[in-house]
Amino acid sequence: LPFDLREAAISVVDKLQPLARAKEINMEMHVPDELRVIWDAEKMMQLLVLLIENAIKYTPTGGAVVVTLADITVKGERSLTIEVRDNGIGISPEALPRIFDRFYRQDKARTRQTGGHGLGLAIAKNIVEMGRGTIRVDSKEGEGSTFTVRLPLAGE
Ligand code: ATP
Repeated sequence: LPFDLREAAISVVDKLQPLARAKEINMEMHVPDELRVIWDAEKMMQLLVLLIENAIKYTPTGGAVVVTLADITVKGERSLTIEVRDNGIGISPEALPRIFDRFYRQDKARTRQTGGHGLGLAIAKNIVEMGRGTIRVDSKEGEGSTFTVRLPLAGE
């Protein structure tokens, strides 16, 4: 059943806004006026929650999180792009290839205080792969991280 991903994404960001505000993190979102898709609405919202919660969790007080959804066509192939960008602690080059593994957490000493089990990104990757999409991360330690999800829209 088609659902309005724009409204779903707005409600997810609204729900997580207090979490950001508690850390004085400025969180903004860019989303197209019209975005109807036929993926599982619950799963799509869970995916957004996982990525945005991490962005807030791993960004110090006063930081910024930007969530961008876009409907993009490249070489005749339509896809949805979800980008979650933060200017937080970033991910070390050693940790980068492992963060989508189940139970992996970067630098236990540093992340102990933030809690978690290292399952979030494994679940996120699973949801993306169910939609035949891809998820990747660009990150620099001490500068921030950008998670980019691409999901094909044509055969969705
Ligand atoms: P949880 O299972 O509660 O989500 P978690 O956050 O530790 O716990 P994942 O979401 O799987 O687990 O993330 C795995 C690891 O990737 C984290 O422990 C953290 O080191 C790193 N990570 C994920 N997102 C970010 C981010 N936005 N900035 C910096 N590091 C991140």
